[in-house]
Amino acid sequence: MGRVYNFSAGPAVLPEVVLKEAADEMMDYKGSGMSVMEMSHRSKTYDDIIKTAEQDLRDILNIPDNYKVLFMQGGASTQFAMVPMNLMKNKVADYIITGQWAKKAYQEACMYGKANAIASSEDKTFSYIPDCSDLPISEDADYVYICENNTIYGTKFKQLPNTKGKILVSDVSSCFLSEPMNISDYGIVYGGVQKNIGPAGVVISIIREDLITDDVLPGTPTMLKFKTHADNDSLYNTPPAYGIYICGKVFKWIKSMGGLEAMKKHNEEKAKILYDFLDQSEMFKGTVAEADRSLMNVPFVTGDKDLDALFVAEAKKAGLESLKGHRSVGGMRASIYNAMPKAGVEKLVEFMSDFEKKNK
Ligand SMILES: *Cc1c(COP(=O)(O)O)cnc(C)c1O
Repeated sequence: MGRVYNFSAGPAVLPEVVLKEAADEMMDYKGSGMSVMEMSHRSKTYDDIIKTAEQDLRDILNIPDNYKVLFMQGGASTQFAMVPMNLMKNKVADYIITGQWAKKAYQEACMYGKANAIASSEDKTFSYIPDCSDLPISEDADYVYICENNTIYGTKFKQLPNTKGKILVSDVSSCFLSEPMNISDYGIVYGGVQKNIGPAGVVISIIREDLITDDVLPGTPTMLKFKTHADNDSLYNTPPAYGIYICGKVFKWIKSMGGLEAMKKHNEEKAKILYDFLDQSEMFKGTVAEADRSLMNVPFVTGDKDLDALFVAEAKKAGLESLKGHRSVGGMRASIYNAMPKAGVEKLVEFMSDFEKKNK
């Protein structure tokens, strides 16, 4: 059986060249006589892999020298706790609630201090990004927190909130490396890699150096202190070594594609094909405010549950996989991450068009 077009929200599609290279190197990585999976993380060979991965990421994102890049474990969800444990000196933080992931992060922070939900779009099922130009930022807030691209609902912050001088922390799991970003606008940018960069199990956090200290909440486990990982170049304990190796290959792929400007152009082209179709369709409707549409995750509905289910089933038969919407929203969702080729989106739209004609 051949490869399908995989529209899964995560774990998600990876570039074929990366998978092929990994397959070629599976038994013998560059003459080492072993797989990267079997290799000591203290070996010179592995050190080259992780150092090169970090440097390539720094090049791609133009990461300033006063930011550390940490490769850690536990997924994005562990960061929901690590952020307050490491940053809540005043035990106050402001959260903007634009979806389930932001809400989970907020709920986690509530366990460590006073987390304030200063804005929310829950009133309209998270279908828009609230106006964040003049929010009631707490005077003693240790940070302001956002989820920049809302994987489940398909919205994206097109403009960062006005934090009134407070540190901004952003979960970019589902838009990581999809377009350029200015790292110095943030205190912390982090993301689980399984949406756009690599295999689940790795989380990358880019942290301004002055935020990495020993002054953490009492009882913070060693493994959950940023400083532990920063002081040891992400090699305090055994890192998710194989996953980081794949991330490194994806960084090389992004560079070979022309970097983040090119990636953005490629993503905008793909998203336009799908949104243009949705805007003229009489059967399928996008669910998100137009100004806040994500380039990565595109939810849509027919308005009829049975028709939605039929669509998902028929699409699967046509090699268009994982189009079912998140269980909290229903309908459909097409995740069209970096590695989704334009041909995949074109095939999806062609299929939707045929389906609409047949099921009028
Ligand atoms: C998938 C996702 C998460 C959760 O990631 P895990 O690695 O499963 O913990 C958190 N935030 C966002 C924005 C996501 O898309």
